[in-house]
Amino acid sequence: GPLRKRSLVWFRKGLRVHDNPALLEASQSAAEVYPVFVLDPSIDPTEDGVKIGANRAQFLLESLEDLDQSLKKLGSHLICIRGRPEDVLPPLMRELDINHLGFEFDTEPYWKAQGEKMAKEAENLGARVHCPATHTLYDPEHLMAKCMMDAPKSYGQFLKLVAKCGSPPAVASAPESLPQISKDVLGRKHSGVPTLRDLGYEPLPASERTPFPGGETEALRRLEDQFRDTRRIALFEKPKTSPTDFETPSTTVLSPYLKFGCLSSRVFYFKLKEAYRKNGKHADPPVSLLGQLYWREFFYLCGYAFPNFGKMEGNPICRQIPWDHSEGGKEKLRAWESAQTGYPFIDAAMTQLRQQGWLHHLARHAVACFLTRGDLWVSWEEGRKVFDKLLIDADWSLNNANWMWLSCSSFFYQYFRCYSPVAFGRKYDPSGKYIRNFVPALRKMPKQYIYEPWKAPLSVQEAAGCIVGVDYPMPVCDHAVASKENMSKMAAAYKKAKSESPPPKKKAKKAK
Ligand code: FAD
Repeated sequence: GPLRKRSLVWFRKGLRVHDNPALLEASQSAAEVYPVFVLDPSIDPTEDGVKIGANRAQFLLESLEDLDQSLKKLGSHLICIRGRPEDVLPPLMRELDINHLGFEFDTEPYWKAQGEKMAKEAENLGARVHCPATHTLYDPEHLMAKCMMDAPKSYGQFLKLVAKCGSPPAVASAPESLPQISKDVLGRKHSGVPTLRDLGYEPLPASERTPFPGGETEALRRLEDQFRDTRRIALFEKPKTSPTDFETPSTTVLSPYLKFGCLSSRVFYFKLKEAYRKNGKHADPPVSLLGQLYWREFFYLCGYAFPNFGKMEGNPICRQIPWDHSEGGKEKLRAWESAQTGYPFIDAAMTQLRQQGWLHHLARHAVACFLTRGDLWVSWEEGRKVFDKLLIDADWSLNNANWMWLSCSSFFYQYFRCYSPVAFGRKYDPSGKYIRNFVPALRKMPKQYIYEPWKAPLSVQEAAGCIVGVDYPMPVCDHAVASKENMSKMAAAYKKAKSESPPPKKKAKKAK
């Protein structure tokens, strides 16, 4: 009958059944519920249109498989359709006579526009649309209203804003059951979750497969596992963790699960609060784990509030810097991307990135600084693209924000503070275990030369079975020289920006 509620729940991120208000609402009120995921030809669409690496594609497929399993336990299953959402969803909604569409709100420009388009389509069909903002702790609209549309440009300002907002919305319970999807409606037309090969990827060799499996089940398992040691969680301080701990990472590695929404950030938040209560003593932002979640929240809000957040040009919070776009610059970019810089710590990190799709935050710092203002003077947008392809946690808001940070384009401006590609890693890992693992050519290099093998006498190189310039590259630049030159280029770019733009108006409030 006309009052019968037929709901399509469109999954994009938010690949979970826990804390999923769009799914919960449908489960409680609709006679028919169709959980749908549309697998875009570009798999995980990005601004640059790069084809994402196999590790993230695999992570997504595993997350979809897991979601399908969870939906099956509730009496339903995942309908996985291939195509572009804007092409395939409207005809499906018509065919199923959908009168209710539920999906998660998204702040990224590409996904936001796509969501708006789909909401309009649904409304044209007379369907009601439910679009809760559940990817972040707070609804970004709520945060924007609270700051009178004047988005914070610093973490400190952001913390003040959050202090005015109280606790994030409570976690929604998982649905108890879902109506079965009748076979004759869909069974014949729509197949299940495809394989990596179906998507045109060659299966990866074991050594290049990420050790982090996708899916909500794994996310919740990992969360529990991390929280087993309440004290460690409560006292966690980011600067005390280590970029070279690769066997058991020293941070949570919840990032890919948060990126795809296999884990709700609110669940993470409330568990943290509980751990803080239990332990009594706890660390504080910016270095605490709650502080990490707030970095995520802050950068999501920035991506939402500032136009052209993914670019230098036309981005109001990004310093304009004359990066090297020449052939020489491109060659340096290739050396960096392919772990051939001749700086072992940088090359080890870039290899870990390729193999695992994940890097510790400070390793990301080191390679990002090296590519941009530190050594190679290549645009942060180029580095962002490489990360976007290779990270399993590649996240538009966080990736752009952090690249701007490391290149001193926004948020952080102390360009005279530069990571040494030699001394920084050595501080954490003097014997070079991390390098030996990820750069096999250097496996036998004595520890006093492992961070700068070009300094080893030829006899030492021979004994280690690694001739620099033959078995392992010579350094792509001289760090001492390049970093000094780059600092003066930064100084000039900052000075130019200052002379060209009027000083920022204090407390200027934009109207909506
Ligand atoms: P934990 O330290 O355990 O932190 C818990 C969670 O807090 C993370 O999962 C993440 O969601 C959030 N968080 C932590 N650090 C940051 C940060 N600096 N900014 C925003 N959120 C943070 N993170 C991504 O998730 N996706 C990206 O594409 C991404 N690109 C980056 C690019 C560069 C150049 C740099 C320097 C950092 C980037 N980060 C990115 C941020 C950070 O490095 C990762 O979130 C973090 O290392 C993930 O590991 P974890 O889950 O163990 O972090």
